Amino acid sequence: MKTLLKKFADKINISLSEEQIDKFIKYKELLKEWNEKINLTAITADEDIIIKHFIDSLTIEKYIDKNSSIIDVGTGAGFPGIPIKIAREDINLTLLDSLNKRIVFLQEVLNENKIENAICIHGRAEDIAKDLKSREKYDVATARAVANMSTLLELCLPFVKVGGKFICMKGNNIEEVEEAKKALEILGGEIEKIENFVIPDTDIERNIIVVKKVKETPKQYPRKAGTPAKQPIK
Ligand code: SAM
Repeated sequence: MKTLLKKFADKINISLSEEQIDKFIKYKELLKEWNEKINLTAITADEDIIIKHFIDSLTIEKYIDKNSSIIDVGTGAGFPGIPIKIAREDINLTLLDSLNKRIVFLQEVLNENKIENAICIHGRAEDIAKDLKSREKYDVATARAVANMSTLLELCLPFVKVGGKFICMKGNNIEEVEEAKKALEILGGEIEKIENFVIPDTDIERNIIVVKKVKETPKQYPRKAGTPAKQPIK
């Protein structure tokens, strides 16, 4: 598995040290162990964890500047936040999820791997983004498989400093980006780039949408918990 991880990381131009690879392997073992007790992922085969979780998460690494502070919104079992942090010790990571069991798991992964400059927050993005300690404090927000684009913009952009970015990971269908035009405008975002690609040596098509924060998000956003998903800005 170590060779597979190294090989795929090389293909996306990420060179992992022996120590970093060991951290990924420990993470994979913890994920499988805890997944038997709490629902963390439907992906359980070693090779799938490596490609569909670890490598997929690492595909956004190149968009993250040195020493960035990052919040991974709806991180679940830690994706994409933890793989990026293992590959990039310079970043400062915050993992946010509304399910406490997942937060307990994430804390264990951080402790077991002695990962520093990383914290976990239990809560809903709608509530945490109202807190002045978190609002417009991050260089980067990330999200994978959390909600549609309009909802995600409302959950994530409030965390991002003006001049920072929201990096959104999507599958092959990105029609929702077009539908999120109004949300972008209201919340202070502009599409900087959409990268469409296939994970090397697979048929997994992905899109990375990089949204630049160009102006402050109005104070009334995000709306109260649940509303961004129930009534996305249209
Ligand atoms: N990002 C991970 C991944 O790609 O594997 C997890 C995806 S999982 C389908 C969605 C996660 O988002 C869940 O763990 C859920 O608890 C969390 N979530 C959904 N809505 C949220 C919100 N409003 N605030 C914080 N977390 C949220």
